[in-house]
Amino acid sequence: MGSSSGFLQIKGLKKSYDGIDALRGIDLTLQRGEFLSLFGPNGAGKTTLIRIIATLLKPGSGSVSVMDFDIEEHPEDFRAQLGVISHQSFLYDDLSARENLEFYAALYRVDDPEAKSRELLKLVGLHDRGDSKVSGFSRGMQQRLSIARALINDPSLLLLDEPYTGLDERASILLSGHLRQLHSRQRTIVMVTHDLKRGLESATKVGILSKGRLVYFKDRSEVDIDEFEHIYLRYLQGAQDV
Ligand code: ATP
Repeated sequence: MGSSSGFLQIKGLKKSYDGIDALRGIDLTLQRGEFLSLFGPNGAGKTTLIRIIATLLKPGSGSVSVMDFDIEEHPEDFRAQLGVISHQSFLYDDLSARENLEFYAALYRVDDPEAKSRELLKLVGLHDRGDSKVSGFSRGMQQRLSIARALINDPSLLLLDEPYTGLDERASILLSGHLRQLHSRQRTIVMVTHDLKRGLESATKVGILSKGRLVYFKDRSEVDIDEFEHIYLRYLQGAQDV
């Protein structure tokens, strides 16, 4: 199942918006079960990359394939295996937390939608707010629910764009623990974050995106934290090359 070429393979990926080059040629391969933490300054192209992998945005040129299938050619099959946690919550304001989860559970043909929704509400600490409408939720509560929503189909590829934003410490700890558990079950994870500590703690690969290029990509085991902090800081300060 594509193990020689990688679980997720990105080749020559470029994207521009009205003349602004957001991605200038990204090549990246992840094996199944790897956990990539991706860092980078504001405007580096991180969200653009996540949105393209999530099939929410079309690439300009280049390709993204998962298990050797181009995601643009089989988007429905691919989305069934995908979980996305991004700035966009994909939640319905007028539905309760439970109804949102049950809706997505039904969409993904989860075996027992009620039980799965209960389990996930508990996981994100919203079991006592299950019957409240999402419109009355705080930003952090919406973020928790969007995490539960992204996990409903037990995705084999999980994409997270700054998932800790808006979460309190307890919810952050719960999320980190759950990511570790998913990782131990061979789920492949790509996480964009500005949180160095959380980004480095579970990663197997560490990357820095700067000005639309993947300027750093290493095995976590080869990353010296002091050196990494220095390099990352230089890119945050606008360095072209470190
Ligand atoms: P941040 O850390 O601030 O979230 P990012 O690394 O996620 O940044 P992107 O949001 O991918 O960066 O943006 C990359 C570049 O593309 C930026 O120059 C941004 O201004 C531009 N860009 C992103 N989305 C659009 C859009 N919809 N229309 C025009 N330009 C865009």
